[in-house]
Amino acid sequence: MQICYNCSANTVLNNPEWSKKAALLKKAGINTMWLFGYFYGHWDTSPEDVARAKKVLEEDGFEVNAANVPFGHGGNALDPDDPNFKSDIGEGWRERWTKDGLVKVNTTCPNDKAISDTRDALLIFKQLGMKKAFFDDDLRFGKWSPETQGCFCPDCLEKFRNIYGNFSVDDIDRDEALTAAWKRFQCENLTNFVQKISVDGIRHGVMLMNNVDERHGVDVKMLKERVPGIFFRVGEGCFSDGAFDTEKGKLCLTRSVSNHMYRIGDNTDTWSETTVFPKNALSPANLVEKMKIELHIGLKNIYLMSGTIFLDDVYFNAIADALPLLQEIDAQTTSPNYSLGDPIW
Ligand SMILES: [Zn+2]
Repeated sequence: MQICYNCSANTVLNNPEWSKKAALLKKAGINTMWLFGYFYGHWDTSPEDVARAKKVLEEDGFEVNAANVPFGHGGNALDPDDPNFKSDIGEGWRERWTKDGLVKVNTTCPNDKAISDTRDALLIFKQLGMKKAFFDDDLRFGKWSPETQGCFCPDCLEKFRNIYGNFSVDDIDRDEALTAAWKRFQCENLTNFVQKISVDGIRHGVMLMNNVDERHGVDVKMLKERVPGIFFRVGEGCFSDGAFDTEKGKLCLTRSVSNHMYRIGDNTDTWSETTVFPKNALSPANLVEKMKIELHIGLKNIYLMSGTIFLDDVYFNAIADALPLLQEIDAQTTSPNYSLGDPIW
């Protein structure tokens, strides 16, 4: 079992007692840290600070990689208490449009500027010696919902019309052939984005939103075939006690994970979505319960996450206390043969 977590370079560099924090993370079994990162056209911290924080974390004994947010979320999905939070996408980037012509919804159109800026950022990560970079959520064209979505901006619509011919957006999810072609087009667009930003020597991780599939432009098989070395986090939802403490919440979590693991196939490098969001929304006890469920499902790698908020010590203490039991569950669990089931919305 591996456990990892992510944070800003500022968290490492601005805390005079960071070494004590690092020791606590180690006690909780964490061996890899993912540093923010390039967020939809902006650096969370300067590359120089990322380099300094990387050095500190490596001296603490962690493997260090990069965590990026590829597309804008439309609003603040990283820390609602941060008044300085930057939700705007980069200059020259384009908002995703919905079928109804709405813009500034979550995620972004993968236009040429988004591709070249993101690739440039990855080249800098390569210079900093990073060998892996996670696209942590939002690599998708849609919100958490069962309808077929995608980017309906004028450019994307024109490109699709050139392939398919004339159509009415209202017929998506009504006309079978049109819906299949539209989903394929969105999946090609998203996969194309990942292929074009890819840099030799950096492996990409992709966060698969809870229940995400072709309806949101994500085709795991296509990504695996076209992006060498790609690996995944499996979306679970249940970031709060309110969502986690229900039978439906837990069923949705396990169904989503097993559907994703079925599609991924080889799950040796597949990671959990062990997220607390917003601040303290999932209690330390429930976080540990969630980890137990993940290990029982057959996940071997735990990825802790909490937006850009750094978890309080109480969480790491709870994980450290539970670590022997978690390791025992891990040792006794073999990955089953996963099957596809209807997602639970
Ligand atoms: Zn578009």
